[in-house]
Parts: sequence; structure tokens; C-alpha cells
Amino acid sequence: MQRDIADLLFQEFNISKKTYILSKEVEEQVADKFSEIDYISRFNQYKVLKAFQNNHISDSHFVETTGYGYDDLGRDALDAVYAETFRSEDALVRHHIVSGTHALALCLYGVLRPGDTLISVTGKPYDTLEEVIGIRGKNNGSLRELGIKYQQVDLTPMGTINYDEISASIDKNTKVAMIQRSKGYDWRPSLTVKEIERLIHTIKTINPDTICLVDNCYGEFVETIEPTEVGADLVAGSLIKNPGGGLAPTGGYIAGKKEYIKLAAYRLTSPGIGKKCGASLGMNRHLFQGFFMAPHIVSQSLKAAIFCAALFERLGFEVCPKSDEIRTDIIQAIKFNNPELLISFCQGIQKGAPIDSFVRPQPWDMPGYDSQVIMAAGAFIQGSSIELSADAPIKPPYIAYMQGGLIWNHAKLGIIIALQDMMDKGLLKI
Ligand SMILES: *Cc1c(COP(=O)(O)O)cnc(C)c1O
Repeated sequence: MQRDIADLLFQEFNISKKTYILSKEVEEQVADKFSEIDYISRFNQYKVLKAFQNNHISDSHFVETTGYGYDDLGRDALDAVYAETFRSEDALVRHHIVSGTHALALCLYGVLRPGDTLISVTGKPYDTLEEVIGIRGKNNGSLRELGIKYQQVDLTPMGTINYDEISASIDKNTKVAMIQRSKGYDWRPSLTVKEIERLIHTIKTINPDTICLVDNCYGEFVETIEPTEVGADLVAGSLIKNPGGGLAPTGGYIAGKKEYIKLAAYRLTSPGIGKKCGASLGMNRHLFQGFFMAPHIVSQSLKAAIFCAALFERLGFEVCPKSDEIRTDIIQAIKFNNPELLISFCQGIQKGAPIDSFVRPQPWDMPGYDSQVIMAAGAFIQGSSIELSADAPIKPPYIAYMQGGLIWNHAKLGIIIALQDMMDKGLLKI
């Protein structure tokens, strides 16, 4: 007997007819948004393709090197492909960079010297950077211990940039201004590249020598331009997020001005050696292919985020960003105002995963957090957040942060399963 998708969902995934109909309506409602996403994805795909072609990428670039890794053609060509895509002078793309935090730390330690000032102009930086800067932790070799001063300009209560205070805070000692593009795990608008442009202009008007470093995590390929195209001197991110395209097994990247990339590379290896060493160990092909896939994969994640936003808006929840708002990162926040709904949502996302779907994640006391945290991640690559994942601190107002999705058709079902799970537990009615 022939079955259609609806039957399959009813019989194999225990999706109710009501849920199915709602999901279909929501999908129709966001169709226009999806065509915008397709346009951006196409634009970025062609940009990346051209960078591959212009750099004559071939089979020989996938050959692995070992030991010191001198003359690793693939590694150097990958740097060139990233640099061209980001319209930057140079790039440093390495599986030796363990995470986004590491990439950002390399930038900071690379260019800052004792007596310099670092300013964060978008409020408190991402949690993991607090120990790097020295906001938290002691005797750990933080920037503060090395004599680097730190200033922070908080966002306004509306979550917008405080231009007046930034202008008043920048002076001739401001060596680095750090800008976080994505809201991360906050409830506020993320920064569009246009807004980043205005911010950089403000900073450079006061001190043209201030190095503008953008934490680009979760932002790559969400718009048709990147911060390096509007004056950012350095951008950094993680390869288990957007630019790894779900295929990079690990790594980080930095793109920007040649002299600063050199200094960051001196931190990664050592002064004098910089970019010239570091065996690629057969990683090159994964990193190339992942980067080639990234514009498409990011579009899949964005569709998941928009669908999720529209679905929960319909059910009366507050979401950030809203389904029809401009996006500049792949994170979708949903305010549940209720711990049971929050936990159930995260457990439902896990239930829909290809890996570890049989595991029920539980809230736990994760080091470094002031409340319990729940994390749903049924991913091929440990901790990968370009794969469909959701996490949340268990504290009011009980916000879940969902991101990723390699395949929109999968991510959609994951979200539907999460909703069905909440209904089956009697926590929600539609
Ligand atoms: C993910 C992320 C980072 C870095 O995190 P890692 O887990 O170290 O890769 C930094 N800033 C933002 C906004 C992020 O989303």
C-alpha cells in the first residue's frame, strides 16, 4: 500500500492530525521569507564557488601533510578561499583552533600589548571570553593579568547600541574594540552587518587606529555581506558553526588584515613560525567541502529558525527574532515562561535527532553557569551547533535557544516532534 507523508508522520512518528495541519499552515505562511533565504543562499553560494575557482582548487589540495606541515598547499589555499570570500587581505583557517573562543582569544592575545585598552562595545561578551579578558578567574594568564585594561559599554535597556557612551569611551589608547554580532544567549536583536558598519564608522572616526574585531559566530552567510566588507579589521568564528557547513569535524577561522592575521598566527604557533607550520592531517578536504556547503546549510538552519518562530508565535509565545524580522544569525529564542514547557521542548528536539534520539536530556549543573542548564544535541559532531540543537538555562523567563539544522526537512520534523511532545504531556493545547 502506498503511504503519503502525512500517513508516515501519523503512524511512525505519532504526529497528530492537528499538529500536522498547523505545521502545514505555518509553512505556507512563511513561504515569502523562505524565498528571501533562498536568494541569499544562492548569492553566497556563487561567491564561494568563484573563490574556489579563482584559487584553482584541485585534488592536490586534499593531500595530507604530517609533521611540521611545511608547504601544505591545501592549508594555504583554504586560507586564500576564506580571504576571498570574506573580501579580506588574509585568513587563518585551522583545525588546530579548537573553538570560536580560541579563535577570538588568538586575535586578542595577538594584537594587544601591556598598557593597551580593550573595549567591548556590545555589552558583556560571550561567557567563555570572560576568563580570557579577566572578568572572571585568577592566575590564569588572562589579558588583565598581562596589563591590558578592559572597558565595557553596555547596550541600552532596549538592547540597542549606546553610541553616545561609545563615543565618549574611545580614546587614543583604545587598541581593540570588540563587537559581538550575534545576541548569543541573550534576548535582544542581533547586529546586522549594516549596524556593524555604522558602529565601526563611529569608532574609527574617533580613533582610526582602533582595531575592530567582530565575533562573527553564528553570523556567517546569513546576509550577503560579512563584517570584513564594512571595515572590520578582524573577524573570527567556529567551524562547528556556520562556515564548517556541518562537515568540518573541528576548527576555527580568523579573517582580516594581513598584519593582524600574522600576529594571531604567531599566537597559535609561535612568533616567527606563524602560518607556515601546522600539518593538515587530511582535514583539508572536510574544511573545503564544508565551506562550499556552508551557504546552503546556513539556509537550512534559517528556514528551521523562521518556521519555529512562526509556529510558536501562533501558539501565543514570544519569540526573538520574530518570524518576519531581518536575520543576521541562526539563533532562535522562544520564551516559554514555564520550566516544564522549556524542558519538554528541548527533550522533543532531541527526540527528533538522527543521533541519540532515544536519550532524554536532563537539566544539570554545568560548570560556569549560575543555574541548571539543559542541552539537546543529537549531532554527528560533538557540540556542533550548526546541527539542530537547543539549549536553555533553567531560570525565568525560561527561554529556549534553538539553532542549526543541516537539512530543513529534518529540522522541521524535529520542531514538530518537540511540539507534539509538549501536547502529549498535556502542557499545551492547540
Ligand atoms: C559560540 C559562540 C562563541 C564561541 O563559542 P565556542 O563554543 O568557543 O565555539 C563566541 N561568541 C558567540 C556569540 C558564540 O555564539
